Amino acid sequence: MTGKLIIFSAPSGSGKSTIINYLMEQGLNLHFSISATSRPPRGTEQNGVEYFFLSPEEFRQRIAAGEFLEYVEVYEGRFYGTLKSQVDSQLAQGQNVVCDIDVLGAERIKAVYGPQALSLFIQPPSIDALRERLEGRGTDSPEVINDRLARATYELSFAPKFDAVVINDDLATAQADALRVVSQFLQA
Ligand code: 5GP
Repeated sequence: MTGKLIIFSAPSGSGKSTIINYLMEQGLNLHFSISATSRPPRGTEQNGVEYFFLSPEEFRQRIAAGEFLEYVEVYEGRFYGTLKSQVDSQLAQGQNVVCDIDVLGAERIKAVYGPQALSLFIQPPSIDALRERLEGRGTDSPEVINDRLARATYELSFAPKFDAVVINDDLATAQADALRVVSQFLQA
């Protein structure tokens, strides 16, 4: 049976990764989509496992050929993107495919797959709560935190465009909510 697609998006600091990792362990046959990048492999990363590692030239050629569902060029020559052929091959193998992606990429992928995809936005309870979380993490300078909050405000404006929104105020509740929404979608 063909799989389904679940697209997650969230401002940084909203607990998205924790919620996705929880869902991956619930026996739902969820598999991360393997993206392409032009950055070099790190450590033990292998081609076709963490990413497909392409040269910048090859990445550009494949953009021109219309092979990407979405992509970003983070800076000159450093690309990340989702290959349609890869998502389709994972779906054809019966995998339920998880994309963890920015709000614009999420919107594009949802537009391509329509009812075969569920777009899910993980929302922090408020910008103030997000600030407290980012400050509490202690990993970012005040400038970086302000940048992230400005970006989060922009990203939050996309929430109404998603199929479902899960508010992460209390993590256990958010995990249960996400599990319910995703399970219902996969059973439909
Ligand atoms: P890293 O280089 O640490 O593996 O990833 C850097 C960033 O690239 C992450 O924030 C990740 O979300 C983003 N990224 C990874 N794959 C894709 C993709 O397929 N499309 C887009 N738009 N961003 C991606």
